[in-house]
Amino acid sequence: MVSVHNAYIIAKDSNTDYVQRTWPGFKGFVEDLVDDLTYGVQTRRQPSIMLQPHPGNQLHTLYTRPDGLYKVCNECSLQGKQKKTTTKMCNVCQAPIDVKCLQKHQERMLVG
Ligand SMILES: [Zn+2]
Ligand SMILES: [Zn+2]
Repeated sequence: MVSVHNAYIIAKDSNTDYVQRTWPGFKGFVEDLVDDLTYGVQTRRQPSIMLQPHPGNQLHTLYTRPDGLYKVCNECSLQGKQKKTTTKMCNVCQAPIDVKCLQKHQERMLVG
């Protein structure tokens, strides 16, 4: 249990906003962790809006939505700051990503 708690602290330190929003308490974090251990990576429950880092050498690039609709940038949503809307989509995540947030998005997604 001690190591799990450490994992929570480390996760919280490295990505405070995300962790606090996803796991406001330590209990939820442990449950997610247990879920992962129980079901494995393939069937893990995906939060609806949170994109999980998916290590790989595929570069995340943007393309313009064919329907031209403006959507809230996924990176902005994660930040909880003022949200930009964009017609751009990530080719890998199929999620709306603003041009200005692409670099941040790539860095986050390519975290090993
Ligand atoms: Zn953004
Ligand atoms: Zn992406």
